[in-house]
Amino acid sequence: MTTDAILNRSYSLEKEQIPPTVVEQIDDAERAALTEKIKAQLKQQNAVIVAHYYTEPELQILADESGGYVSDSLDMARFGKESDAETLIVCGVKFMGETAKILSPEKRILMPDLDANCSLDLGCPTDEFSDFCDTHPDHVVVVYANTSAAVKARADWMVTSGSAVDVIKHLAAEGKKIIWAPDKYLGDYVQKETGADMLIWQGACIVHEEFKGQELETLRAHHPDAKVLVHPESPASVIEQADMVGSTTGIIKAVVEMDATKFIIATDTGIFHKIKEAAPDKILIEAPTAGKSATCISCAHCPWMAMNSLRKLLRVLETGDNKVLVDADIAQRATGSIQRLLDFTRDQASKLAGDA
Ligand code: SF4
Repeated sequence: MTTDAILNRSYSLEKEQIPPTVVEQIDDAERAALTEKIKAQLKQQNAVIVAHYYTEPELQILADESGGYVSDSLDMARFGKESDAETLIVCGVKFMGETAKILSPEKRILMPDLDANCSLDLGCPTDEFSDFCDTHPDHVVVVYANTSAAVKARADWMVTSGSAVDVIKHLAAEGKKIIWAPDKYLGDYVQKETGADMLIWQGACIVHEEFKGQELETLRAHHPDAKVLVHPESPASVIEQADMVGSTTGIIKAVVEMDATKFIIATDTGIFHKIKEAAPDKILIEAPTAGKSATCISCAHCPWMAMNSLRKLLRVLETGDNKVLVDADIAQRATGSIQRLLDFTRDQASKLAGDA
């Protein structure tokens, strides 16, 4: 395929490729029983739960109560690497399990559901992407964390939503031309912020893509005192209205620190659990996915994140099923792009500490 054909082709998923969002329904008695059994298994197997902010609150609560961790994808992997546990139960989606395995090859990584994927990962097929990179050998290849291990292995850098602008700024200052994949909205946002020379892959997150600019304007008119916090995987019409654009961790921090009591939040609703814990007195409003131009495929909750559940978690602990495996050669090459980001963020943090 030519460069134009790739850049003009949508890598968004078709509706039929997206599973329905099904959240496990259990009563209080079953929840309590499952929680106790899982805690006992975790102890017995020297295992910890590492969960993403978008998973169900009961999983996040269990992770916190049992010595595990709840965070964004990069921090989940960092925690896993530093943990003394022999087994990590990654409650999230496939690329998070793979990144955990790449950074902690000696550990056993289990996931409640190996079908939990991501529209960005699915929208960036390795062979097609690799061919595209091969036709632009003068470009630095930068991929978002939400990609397969094989795509990371083809890349020079992996970035997260919180680090993308800084990394691209750094590369642009060195005069580098960049291939960016897979999220087109995040790519456009980063391009606008940095002015970098970028070829942008046309993938999208099915959750953030659904936030609606027009309906957000109407909602803001009803709540003129609310601050608007937006994840950069959202369309430009939504990002343009933001008081703050940031990663999941950045959004939680903003609610805590900003001098406002009301917030309209454009990201997966799973994050509301941690925000309410950190800032119980603040008022949170979901950014609209409905309205005149509504499609509402996910209704702001990721169907793949919802596949993680207490019943499945207990099952993998009891059976040892759903082990995450990454080919050794792919893992070795992917480590390079991940490590480059870890080194970059560490250097930035020490520079900031030096400036303080
Ligand atoms: S919320 Fe979007 S980016 Fe995150 S896992 Fe789901 S589809 Fe992927």
